[in-house]
Amino acid sequence: MKTDPYTSSNPRRDAIHPPLSDKTVAIVGLGGAADIALDLLKSGMTRFRLFDPDALESGNLVRHACGSRYVGKNKAIATKLLLEEYAGRKLPDAVAVPKSVFDAEADFAASVRMSDLVVVGTDTDSSRAYANDLVVEFGKKAVFVSMFENGCGGEIFAYRPGNCCYGCLMRHQERSEFLIRFEARGAKSDCSSSRDVRGMPGLGTDQRFLSAIASRISLDLLLEGSRHSLPPIGANWVVFSVSGISEILEHPLSSLRFEISKHPDCPCAKNVS
Ligand SMILES: [Zn+2]
Repeated sequence: MKTDPYTSSNPRRDAIHPPLSDKTVAIVGLGGAADIALDLLKSGMTRFRLFDPDALESGNLVRHACGSRYVGKNKAIATKLLLEEYAGRKLPDAVAVPKSVFDAEADFAASVRMSDLVVVGTDTDSSRAYANDLVVEFGKKAVFVSMFENGCGGEIFAYRPGNCCYGCLMRHQERSEFLIRFEARGAKSDCSSSRDVRGMPGLGTDQRFLSAIASRISLDLLLEGSRHSLPPIGANWVVFSVSGISEILEHPLSSLRFEISKHPDCPCAKNVS
């Protein structure tokens, strides 16, 4: 019988952490987060809820996990097909929804409710805020990942129920000061202000660092409370410099990490400890 290297028992992986086959992850925005889906599959997950309204374009290929055969396909559907290609079989619990979280409102809310983790890799502030509202409301762990302009670096934020949420992070002084310094050097704060992929020309190698960190933090959150051998990251907000961020993180491949506490003006009324 053909073995399934990703989704069946794998002694090497099982020595690192317990099986994750009973866990569900919802992923919103399947650009760079397609790599996170693939990492989680390789870590033993098969239950996915994938949301993205956009089609893969040839211009995306420099940084997308899906290759040229998927150009023209919706990114959520393409990612599901890529996961099945890696797994070597159909994944009946991987569901692709070719819509935005706003157009698939009820489906997205149900997906958050049934998930153990929500990964938010969208490029608009409104969709990130909406995802934040739902993960707080349903008490779900979440990882937010975004790339800075020109692929010079990015940030990854981890949400644990009852703690600092993404809305808190947006209001936090450390982040405000960071963005003021970042914008002072003439760069935009992140890629959320433009949906034009040509406006953020990071390559796959730039993006891959961020998605790898986000995958690792996702595993941290999924494995909390169980016995495993992955040392915790120990911060809920990581800023990573890929190619050097002048006056902030000069050295390529360096990082800042912060444990940000809940903001007194948290926008989510239900974010109670
Ligand atoms: Zn908050």
